Amino acid sequence: SKTSDALSSFLVTGIYRFQNPNAIFIDPVRILNRSYSRFRISPSAYYTRFFDSNPTHSSAPDPGTKEEESSNPKKRRRKEPKRRVLNEKELPAEQRHQKVMPLLLEAHGCLLGATDLLKIMRGLKEESVASSEEEDNGEFQKAPDEVSFIQLGKVWQAPLYDVTLHSVHLRELSEHEVKKRVVPVFNNLVVNETKGDVEAEFLNRKYIMPGESSFYMILLFLFSFSDTWKSDLGQIQNLVPDQSDYGFNLIMVDPPWENASARQKLRYPTLPNRYFLSLPIKKLIHRDGALVGLWVTNREKLLNFVERELFPSWGVSFAASFYWLKVKADGSLVSDLHLFHHRPYECLLLGYCHGQDGDSKELSGFYPIKNDHIIISIPGDYSRKPPVGELLLEHVPGLKPARCIELFARELFGGWTSWGNEPLHFQNSRYFLRN
Ligand code: SAM
Repeated sequence: SKTSDALSSFLVTGIYRFQNPNAIFIDPVRILNRSYSRFRISPSAYYTRFFDSNPTHSSAPDPGTKEEESSNPKKRRRKEPKRRVLNEKELPAEQRHQKVMPLLLEAHGCLLGATDLLKIMRGLKEESVASSEEEDNGEFQKAPDEVSFIQLGKVWQAPLYDVTLHSVHLRELSEHEVKKRVVPVFNNLVVNETKGDVEAEFLNRKYIMPGESSFYMILLFLFSFSDTWKSDLGQIQNLVPDQSDYGFNLIMVDPPWENASARQKLRYPTLPNRYFLSLPIKKLIHRDGALVGLWVTNREKLLNFVERELFPSWGVSFAASFYWLKVKADGSLVSDLHLFHHRPYECLLLGYCHGQDGDSKELSGFYPIKNDHIIISIPGDYSRKPPVGELLLEHVPGLKPARCIELFARELFGGWTSWGNEPLHFQNSRYFLRN
């Protein structure tokens, strides 16, 4: 039957397609693991929240959603009255919300109707037990704490730090040879050219790089007079290709938007909106053009800024909005859909950009993107976005395989380039098991 087909393909790909073509459920762990060879992401290290059996592990809410507050009884008092009169500023946001609500409810209905999937969801966090697991857990528990890449900006020697890459090469007669390479870790494009995983050693920690992934890690500097972290966004220039056919066809951006949440400030530094105007998106584009995906929070002011200023300044024309609907392991929404400041969804704005010499030409080689797709998943760590790149590939212009980059990344993807101040963050070996 159709539903059992959907389930068996989900078990392989991590993507569950409902009958409703606008809704999809994904398991980020399964999707990501398809690009690893010798390692795999540990589901229990990915799913640190929203599995009820482990409530102590739930951490701070995501920006713009504050999802836990609605389910935390102590904070119930702060719940907004449902029929509060909205002020002039809130009204447009509410109208936007009212427009997407039926779509979100419909998508959520699909999930609640997929009983076979719901059964599996509760177990998504459990490891599939591998024979070598005990030994691996031992190894990884000894791994020291995470490095705060943000704090490294305080260390004057940091620009000189190296990373050691260990890659495994298959030789004849199934013999293996481990090759070692030492390269600068900051302000340098570090590339895993092999199809297999590379173990990268940095400051006594181990990081796993999936096949054909690259990262460009920048250092943030502390401006002591303002006590804020700044970087020279101009450093992105180093990724600008010399030739237009080396540019990117898919560009995902998840900027450190400023947010009222005090908690967020502790996790990573943020930047005022105007800084993002100077990102040289146009220069990063492949000459066949690109699809640009931008994660935004549910703030009307921000959405207006993107529509009226940011996309135009990047040369991006708006094409579609996708929504990421966040659910718990039992299939329920992470927060009430009706709460004004606690939305259980985030928005991904998508647009097309022409390449340098293609301004007049039509973009080609892709299925035009449709509006209002809903992607449902159980969130991972604070502010970590689900890996939606693969779902977008059919909408990417130009020759295949597409060249893909993520800006402000905290993780690596097979075949992608990741740029940011902490692209190795979720690559720490403590998030992985050995196959
Ligand atoms: N997409 C990521 C994920 O799924 O995990 C989350 C990205 S988070 C919203 C924004 C990132 O931008 C953080 O890693 C933050 O440290 C970084 N960042 C903050 N200020 C920055 C700056 N001035 N230059 C570059 N990156 C910066």
